[in-house]
Amino acid sequence: MVRERPGVRISPAAPATKLLATRRVWGQNKWMTDHHHNHDEGSELSDTALRVRALETLLVDKGYVDPAALDELIDTYENKVGPRNGAAVIANAWTDEEYRQRLLTNATAAIAELDFVGRQGEHMVAVENTEKTHNMIVCTLCSCYPWPVLGLPPIWYKSPPYRSRVVIDPRGVLADFGVTVPENTEVRVWDSTAEVRYLVIPQRPAGTEGWSKAKLAELVTRNSMIGTGTAISPDELET
Ligand code: FE
Repeated sequence: MVRERPGVRISPAAPATKLLATRRVWGQNKWMTDHHHNHDEGSELSDTALRVRALETLLVDKGYVDPAALDELIDTYENKVGPRNGAAVIANAWTDEEYRQRLLTNATAAIAELDFVGRQGEHMVAVENTEKTHNMIVCTLCSCYPWPVLGLPPIWYKSPPYRSRVVIDPRGVLADFGVTVPENTEVRVWDSTAEVRYLVIPQRPAGTEGWSKAKLAELVTRNSMIGTGTAISPDELET
């Protein structure tokens, strides 16, 4: 396994990103939190969620943050942006060799060709799964994720067990996801930073020759673009 660990830098945008991500968490689900215990005051929110709520209240009160703008951001990334964008990119790369080359050379520009642009996608890198190499992405520091192509990250992506274990035992993590990578296939783990975000190009399943981009995109799962899954096979699609 080769670990790619580009220099970790925190951009000025990082705190706002974390606020947004965490706000969504307490706004929707309490099960996101890292610890669970009964607070004396009877709150079901975690300490982190309470801090985020207090911070947001303060920022709103002082006029630094518009709650409507936060809601719009969350709505955008939950409902308008998601893994279907990434799937379209992958299907394009599978069917258009020149596009594939552009994606591998300058992913940000190639993805922008399909109008998938925006926060957390300013510096994209595409890594391709082949017979020789299986790529996985993580953010060991926190939860950096390519929002324009994959939407908001799944819960497990942000969890400490995934973030720590994937760099130590990537094959074990893959096994947990039901993925077996041949012994002679190298597994590479790419550590996202506040600036650079990765997109895995999964292997195109056999038996899909001549398929349309739309149909191919149906085979591309979110996890296959993180590297914790593979594209589904034509057989699986029919079941
Ligand atoms: Fe992060």
